[in-house]
Amino acid sequence: MPQPRLFDPPDAPEPWELAAEADRTTAEIVLPLPTPTTFHYLVPDALRELIRPGQRVKVPFGRGDQLRVGFVVAVGTPPPATRRLKSIDAVIDREPLIADDMLALTKWIADRYLGGWGQVLDSVIPAGVKKQAGTREIRCFQLAEGALEKAAGMKLPPRQRAVLDVLSESDGPVPVDQLEAAAQCGTSPIHALRDKKLILPVRQRRSTMTDDVVPAARMADLILNPDQQRALDAILEPLRTPRHETILLHGVTGSGKTEIYIRAIREVVSYGRQAIVLVPEISLTPQTIRRFGSRFSSLAVLHSHLSDAERHWHWQRIARGEVEVVIGARSAVFAPTPHLGIIVLDEEHETTFKQNATPRYHAREVARERSRRAGVPLVLGSATPTLESFDRARQGIDRLIELPNRVEQRPLPPVVVVDTRTDPLVSRGHSIGRGLQHSIKRSIDDGGQVILFLNLRGYSPVLWCLKCNEGVKCPDCDISLTWHRDRGRLLCHSCDFDMPPPERCPKCGQPGMKYLGAGTQKLEQEVRTKFPDARVVRMDSDAMKKPGSHDEALERFRKGEIDILLGTQMIAKGLDFPNVTLVGVIDADSMLHQPDLRAAERTFQLIAQVAGRTGRGEKAGRVIVQTMSPDDAVIQLAAQHDYLGFAERELAQRREHQAPPATNLARVIVRGPREDLVRAEIRKLVEHLKATALEIGGDLRILGPAPAPILKLKKLFRYHCQLSAPDVEQILAWWRKAEPKIALTEELELTIDVDPLDLR
Ligand SMILES: [Zn+2]
Ligand SMILES: [Zn+2]
Repeated sequence: MPQPRLFDPPDAPEPWELAAEADRTTAEIVLPLPTPTTFHYLVPDALRELIRPGQRVKVPFGRGDQLRVGFVVAVGTPPPATRRLKSIDAVIDREPLIADDMLALTKWIADRYLGGWGQVLDSVIPAGVKKQAGTREIRCFQLAEGALEKAAGMKLPPRQRAVLDVLSESDGPVPVDQLEAAAQCGTSPIHALRDKKLILPVRQRRSTMTDDVVPAARMADLILNPDQQRALDAILEPLRTPRHETILLHGVTGSGKTEIYIRAIREVVSYGRQAIVLVPEISLTPQTIRRFGSRFSSLAVLHSHLSDAERHWHWQRIARGEVEVVIGARSAVFAPTPHLGIIVLDEEHETTFKQNATPRYHAREVARERSRRAGVPLVLGSATPTLESFDRARQGIDRLIELPNRVEQRPLPPVVVVDTRTDPLVSRGHSIGRGLQHSIKRSIDDGGQVILFLNLRGYSPVLWCLKCNEGVKCPDCDISLTWHRDRGRLLCHSCDFDMPPPERCPKCGQPGMKYLGAGTQKLEQEVRTKFPDARVVRMDSDAMKKPGSHDEALERFRKGEIDILLGTQMIAKGLDFPNVTLVGVIDADSMLHQPDLRAAERTFQLIAQVAGRTGRGEKAGRVIVQTMSPDDAVIQLAAQHDYLGFAERELAQRREHQAPPATNLARVIVRGPREDLVRAEIRKLVEHLKATALEIGGDLRILGPAPAPILKLKKLFRYHCQLSAPDVEQILAWWRKAEPKIALTEELELTIDVDPLDLR
């Protein structure tokens, strides 16, 4: 990421210029660029009183001195004496957009994830906050200094006196219309007072939003069982001190983790502090919101469908300390709570906590750092913790609290593993085998509800040419096109390319292509054919495009208006419906055989999470897992709900292969339109990195270069290599040392991903 061209060639300043600059105020600015550099500018006298860290400014930058928007990160720092400084052109924000502690946290993110500080700030502060969406300037009046004393000795008409009374009773500027109403007057007494210099006009930015939060019905506390109480005590202890501690709450599905969070947060709120609860976006269901809404009087829910105005409004409320609990997806970790008391990160294993674009931060690690700086506890919750978190807790770095049982002594559901290789229906092309079909029928006949899980959307994932012996791929990506029958198009799930299905193979011209495999659309058709009387809903990103449709379908399922809910990951997570008596996993193998170091972990997590959707009420539940690898250890351990057994086994394998968490990784990707160039340049890059590693010494290793598993994505060829070291700090130091000398050809793009989760 060298951008030397962006920097100014240092003009040699004259000595008298340096002397003049030395006693002028300067500010340190970062720009949204992939560079760790900060830039110094002179602060013009007119701006000296206005400028503060956390504001945006316009500064001349680059050869043409084009004005660019940057963030002030420090004021009054001594400038480097070697360069002539330019002046800040304008201050954009009246108030800082971000408080000092959060400013420092964004610096940490930039360092930890090798991004530019300005890039991080630009990404962390919502667009709605930057443009002050949903607010307008209004004219207000306030008392001039000493106005009341002055007025006491004056003879004023009663209306003017009334205006002064209203202003003296309010604790700030009052908008003109409110002032007129309260003083029961028109504009002339106000103008008269202004002319007498007793009151002053001011402009204030006010929100045009109003609070439309419907208060949820109050709910009483549930009685905690001994396991829950023990877990709560473990959280309360650092909370009361208060000090930072990370607590990993490993609780099986249905063990009542949410109630523990709520009780801990209530204590936080009683101290006048705020809580941040991070959940995967998919878990921000009405059910979750109701659950928190019924226990706290002020809640801010930050989900991805908020408008800029809504997001800005929440941001302001949170910053003023008016919100007790902020609940939201990944980016809610940046909520500007003034007195943070605790962070809870639920479903800790979810990959969506990692951002897949610059800055590539993981919300768990940011939450860890933020709560460490604030000296408050961080609670991580999961039925299937990541091996990274489990390993830390097992080593005693974090505290491990186990909730091995479900609430009210409900058993975990029995899991039956069905071998589809010998199933007569599956061998004839069905998705639902004989055993699962019988079980679905029985569950529905008994008045229960069924969840069917298949992790593939569309109708058929492959259109196969028998002559070429391969599927039709996206012209822009190295990915098979999926047949979406409802739209009549073949679709690339990576870049959204679509085309009508060809009658002949686009490569060799052979007619008679074959549709292979089944996605959720085909499964839906099979379910409707086999159970014509059942009420069926498919839940995947195609069927749930309309905002709110996901929530609506879940509400209907909760009310019992749906018998069979089938879908992708969307239905695997967090749903809590007491009447679900059967869960079917259509194909456990699709995840298991991915060439990814976390394939086993993800398979275990998915089976455990899907299985967790049943047996949560009075009725017993059961799970059927269809697989072609019934003897696979991962599937067996998942069927026995044996997380500890799985974790021990997997950790041993990771150590053996020197994979995380036994080591730390950073992935470097080079992309470009010409494969030969990409290959040549990444080879040079790897040589340079190897040479740098030799200079530094230590246990630094580099894997690759190699073509990425998805070689071509959105028209660009991709090669990657992986840096590994026992300690992430070593990787960061390695990259920082190597970075200044990395010079890729202009048409190539370089990405570095620290702690990568996506290795495709
Ligand atoms: Zn062909
Ligand atoms: Zn594509």
